[in-house]
Amino acid sequence: MNIIFIGAPGSGKGTQSREFIEKYKFVQLSTGDLLRSAIAAGTVLGLEAKSFMDQGKLVPDDVMIGIVKDYLEANKGKSVIFDGFPRTVEQAKSLASMLNQQNSILDKVFYFKINPLILIERLTGRRVCTKCGEIYHVKTKPSKNEFVCDVCGGSVVHRSDDKESVIVERLAQFEKNTGPTIEYYKSTGLLVEIESSLAPELVFKQIQKVIAL
Ligand code: ADP
Ligand code: ZN
Repeated sequence: MNIIFIGAPGSGKGTQSREFIEKYKFVQLSTGDLLRSAIAAGTVLGLEAKSFMDQGKLVPDDVMIGIVKDYLEANKGKSVIFDGFPRTVEQAKSLASMLNQQNSILDKVFYFKINPLILIERLTGRRVCTKCGEIYHVKTKPSKNEFVCDVCGGSVVHRSDDKESVIVERLAQFEKNTGPTIEYYKSTGLLVEIESSLAPELVFKQIQKVIAL
């Protein structure tokens, strides 16, 4: 089974992905996590992606499609949660052909609808573990020690693109590029809207009900 989590930054895609891979047999393809690892490792890809990410812009489609292609080849036959990909109509169309080549299909696209007023609060307060990816929030889910991950002991940081000036641009990119992508999936009949302003366990239940796991 292949599913997409699509929604604004801060809408909870990463949190739900982590829940689903823990409870069910999915692998998570988080393009944002892959890019951040590439930056940390200082690879060519990381160098190329960094300036786009720091400005809240999208990394070019051809780069992203290449990353996803490699990932799918390395994970053939597995059930994938696509978290943060596709973000443009061009990426969506490429994904369809990549899956088709593997005789695989896309099952559902979950659109994480959210009140935009909540997003800034969620993103400015968000903290992440650089080692295992656990997601915290200074108010609603703080780690016991501010800088240490409860799960793995890795270091917990404030992502450099989770500051207000960059967030505004990321939200603008979401409207401009991902809005049309959502319309595209609506037209394919695969789109399921879920209400993601709610607590994580309630968001989880909405998705679980649809994929009937
Ligand atoms: P969020 O969903 O909170 O914005 P991500 O970790 O998914 O965070 O993405 C962070 C950044 O990585 C984006 O602002 C963008 O620069 C880049 N990125 C991630 N996925 C894609 C993609 N599919 N296409 C283009 N850029 C991407
Ligand atoms: Zn951790």
